[in-house]
Amino acid sequence: MVKDGRKHIESLRDGRRIFLDGACVDDHTQHPAFRHAIASAASLFDYQAQPQHLEKMTFVSPKSGDRVSRMWQLPTSLSELVERRHALEAWAELTCGMLGRSPDHVASCISGMYMGLDLFERHSAARASAVRDYYEYARDNDLYLTYVIISPQADRSKGAGEQSDDFLVAGVCDEDQQGITIRGAKMLGTGCPLANEVFVGAIQPLRPGEEKHSVTAMVPLNAKGLQILSRKSYEAQAMSTFDSPLSSAFDENDAILYFDDVKVPWERVFVHNDVQMAQAQWHAIPTHVYQNYQCQIRLMVKLRFLLGLAKKIADTNGITNFPQVRETLGQLAAETAMVEGMVLGMEAGGGHYGKYFVPNKKLLYAAMVLTQQLYPKFVTTLRELSGGGMIMLPSSVEDFANPEMAYYIGQTQRSPVTDSVGRVKLFRLAWDAVGSEFGSRHQQYEMFYAGANMVTRGHAFRTYDWDRAVGMVDGLMSSYALPQAERQKVT
Ligand SMILES: Cc1cc2nc3c(=O)[nH]c(=O)nc-3n(C[C@H](O)[C@H](O)[C@H](O)COP(=O)(O)OP(=O)(O)OC[C@H]3O[C@@H](n4cnc5c(N)ncnc54)[C@H](O)[C@@H]3O)c2cc1C
Repeated sequence: MVKDGRKHIESLRDGRRIFLDGACVDDHTQHPAFRHAIASAASLFDYQAQPQHLEKMTFVSPKSGDRVSRMWQLPTSLSELVERRHALEAWAELTCGMLGRSPDHVASCISGMYMGLDLFERHSAARASAVRDYYEYARDNDLYLTYVIISPQADRSKGAGEQSDDFLVAGVCDEDQQGITIRGAKMLGTGCPLANEVFVGAIQPLRPGEEKHSVTAMVPLNAKGLQILSRKSYEAQAMSTFDSPLSSAFDENDAILYFDDVKVPWERVFVHNDVQMAQAQWHAIPTHVYQNYQCQIRLMVKLRFLLGLAKKIADTNGITNFPQVRETLGQLAAETAMVEGMVLGMEAGGGHYGKYFVPNKKLLYAAMVLTQQLYPKFVTTLRELSGGGMIMLPSSVEDFANPEMAYYIGQTQRSPVTDSVGRVKLFRLAWDAVGSEFGSRHQQYEMFYAGANMVTRGHAFRTYDWDRAVGMVDGLMSSYALPQAERQKVT
């Protein structure tokens, strides 16, 4: 049986501790701060369970024989990678790319780890077996996972082991035959109300002496001692779907996680006491590439959606045929197509890690650097195209219910291509995408979800084929020399 939305929502009713507005919430699946985002997450599972989508969205688990989401598929060829991407792209389209940590993100990360089991074997046979078993368990139960892999901001000039408290950054405070105990904080758990389990790990480099922070483990979100400290809910503030079509449906939430002595059994510990392994798990094997390739697929879909919004804004205001506006739309179209091309390039330029087919690293990191810079510019262009249109709107959908106000809305919300309801509806959506608190959080997300731009530029530096670029310069320079006469003058 393929997992569907109902099963997913049931699996979330597990007594987890989510703190919001001064209290720990009861059954968060029904709470006004989370329930619609949870329903959106559930709709992804519903989509994959529909008979007409089974082939596109699922594959047969080699262990259970059941169909499970393609997010767990381990491609061995370009065609399988593309087949898997079609499933990820279809999921992203259901949310217009607005669920950053949709289930396929951390599934891609764990799948990349499974492809790199050889590295885990060198770390420890027991830890490798934990990764293998967990991957199969998560795949066969179609788990929705999220992760926290960054130290909380405290003093960024200091490492994890130099902060004012030994366990400000989460680390192992105890261990016994059963497992480890984790104490301390990690950021920034996106999607915790929507997900089943959280991956806790460290992606920021650690130094010798910081071994206790070099832990990677899988923790159910209802684990005893795990405190989920939610940010403000935008969903709770969304007055109606008409007024806030995105915040009301796709507010995936972000939270600081505090591990208040959370016990984790050894079979869920992937990395332990090894600062080098804590880094290698991301970059020496396909982990980081797979998880971020998923991000670029999602972002490609989101840019297409924003591009569609830009075009509709221009049409609605009758500005599409101004040459400057056509150029602006052309620029946005070119940028969207660039990201589409980079996704195709990552696939076509991919290669094998063992038997697995992995997207091209150089193009992935180029895309990450450029899209972090592109997103805020894209948003600014949408604002420029809109002018005051996103602001000169009725106070809420309630205004339409009052005949007097509805009359004045009709008199003031005019467009050459739609009626007043259509105009207000579009500009409400546009504001929610780029101007509301939800939209603003999305800008922050796209700028930082994979680290600051300096971090992704570091990856681009690390993975570029410098020999080829520098070799051309050296080749040309070696084809000429200082003329003989001049050389004699050089002492
Ligand atoms: C909305 C949102 C959702 C996220 N979701 C998740 C998630 O689900 N899971 C997860 O693990 N992470 C998530 N992240 C990413 C993560 O939590 C961090 O935001 C990200 O890694 C950047 O780190 P930081 O925010 O601590 O910024 P910092 O590293 O503190 O950087 C902020 C700025 O400080 C300066 N700076 C910092 N360090 C240096 C330095 N060494 N040298 C020079 N300048 C420096 C730079 O100007 C930089 O832009 C999310 C982020 C956001 C914004």
